[in-house]
Amino acid sequence: MSDGRIPVAVLGATGNVGQRFVQLLECHPWFRVAELVASERSAGKTYREATDWRLSATMPESAAGLMVQGYDADLQSPVVFSGLPGEVAGEIEQRLAARGHAVLSNTSTHRMEPDVPLLIPEVNADHARAIETQRKNRGWSGYIVTNPNCSTIHLVLALKPLHDAYGLEGVLATTLQAVSGAGYPGVPSLDMIDNVVPYIGGEEEKIEVEAQKLLGGYDPAQGFQPAAVVFSAHCNRVPVRDGHTECVSVKLANPATPEEIIETFESFRGRPQELGLPSAPPQPVIVRREPNRPQPVFDRDDAKGMASIVGRVRPCPLLGSKFVVLGHNTVRGAAGASVLNAELFKVDGLLPV
Ligand code: NAP
Repeated sequence: MSDGRIPVAVLGATGNVGQRFVQLLECHPWFRVAELVASERSAGKTYREATDWRLSATMPESAAGLMVQGYDADLQSPVVFSGLPGEVAGEIEQRLAARGHAVLSNTSTHRMEPDVPLLIPEVNADHARAIETQRKNRGWSGYIVTNPNCSTIHLVLALKPLHDAYGLEGVLATTLQAVSGAGYPGVPSLDMIDNVVPYIGGEEEKIEVEAQKLLGGYDPAQGFQPAAVVFSAHCNRVPVRDGHTECVSVKLANPATPEEIIETFESFRGRPQELGLPSAPPQPVIVRREPNRPQPVFDRDDAKGMASIVGRVRPCPLLGSKFVVLGHNTVRGAAGASVLNAELFKVDGLLPV
């Protein structure tokens, strides 16, 4: 039944990120969940039967009765949100883009490709211009646009205003990442309780290269030009359910005091805020002044999980300045980021509707 909203499909709908899409889109003013897609294990069942719902609020009734489809289904929705595992996303997302769908993906598979935008609307909305090149290169009527890794997005939301104001030269980031970032069932409980795991396969490399692409430029003739900022990341898995914390030291070309940096974070706004997009946090970077914040339990849901929460801004004897940033990994770190991209594209006339 049509209610004037744009029908959307969710790939990987039964997973951690897929469930978050279903939850965030439940009362969305512009989009309506029309099709849900998961593996053969789930296809042919209702969403309620197929899904082990693990979010804190009840499964939306509007989704519960929808029949889950398999990946070979002939999807009708012009907009497709993807929460597929990397191993299977490549071929499926490409097939849908070739058939004319706008594919907004959380998966790492296409993020670093030379004609695929990796987008944070507050940071590099102009990179969406690469869609035209992608369509031309690949002969597609649709396209693939990606959002970053769940640690990268919160790190870069905090770094962008500093880069614009003072010029970033180097960044050292140590993450304390929630268990939900590994999907479900993810890391075995016996590996997580009373423990910290100082290794997340591929994560450090993703943060380093994605951040350079996001903070860099785009020009149709030259393609993406990575920012000349040196990144070094340490990634750790910690026994937290949701919310990635990152301890960050930065070397600025033009050093700034903690007060100046706080003012720069708080005054930062991007296109989502200017346009008043439905999922845009009023302030993308929120500063906590208490000495012991941000903390995942208290701060991850601030601004409905769509903002990055910064605290402990102070001098760093090694690189100049340091701070802590925290963000929700499945809201702004995944599904919410794709939804915000789709909202921007609707306003910019980039959705195939
Ligand atoms: P997840 O909880 O493991 O869910 C995976 C989903 O994909 C499920 O719907 C599952 O369907 C389906 N699936 C699993 N194996 C499949 C296969 N072989 N063929 C087809 N479908 C298959 O994973 P997740 O945490 O939601 O992550 C999904 C994607 O988002 C990954 O690429 C991940 O890297 C990325 N991501 C995750 C986060 C996060 O914080 N979790 C953040 C950013 C990005 P069935 O239930 O039917 O098996």
